[in-house]
Parts: sequence; C-alpha cells; structure tokens
Amino acid sequence: MAPHIVYPEPTCPHEGCGEPMQAIDFRLEDRGRAVHDPLVRAWWNDTGFVGRCPHCEGWIHFTIRSKRAVTADEAAQYPQLPDDWHTNATIL
Ligand SMILES: [Zn+2]
Repeated sequence: MAPHIVYPEPTCPHEGCGEPMQAIDFRLEDRGRAVHDPLVRAWWNDTGFVGRCPHCEGWIHFTIRSKRAVTADEAAQYPQLPDDWHTNATIL
C-alpha cells in the first residue's frame, strides 16, 4: 500500500509555522522504483522518512504514528524524500 496518512496535528510541526499538513498522500508511486521502493519499505517498517516543509524548510520526520520536527543532523539518519516531494504529493 502507498504511504498516505492523516495526522491529528493540522500543521507543520515546526514552531511558528502554520503550513497545513494534516493529511498527506506522498504519491511515491510516481517517482520510479529507485525512489519508491526504499521509502515505502521505511514507511511500513516504522523507520519513516524525512522531508523539508515547503514553507519553513524545516526537516520533518514522517512515520505511520506521528510527524515531528527534526534537525538537519537527525534528518541525515533517515531515508529522505526528494527535495520537491511536496510538488507531487497531495497535502491537506
Ligand atoms: Zn513548516
């Protein structure tokens, strides 16, 4: 199944950023297998993956349970979404 999620929190987890980010369909199936396969695996084994908020550019760790603000150092430890992930994803 493709990663899509509805979080309880309605916005980006970074302090002071109000970017709407409650429901996300990452649409990884449009990215080709080299991007899709490792990210889908990380999603379902609960590692999750990271991407930058399109508004504040802060790193966010997305998992099936939560989304949280992380530093660039923390983000480097996780699989990363493409830089332009938000242009293809559906974010509500
Ligand atoms: Zn943000």
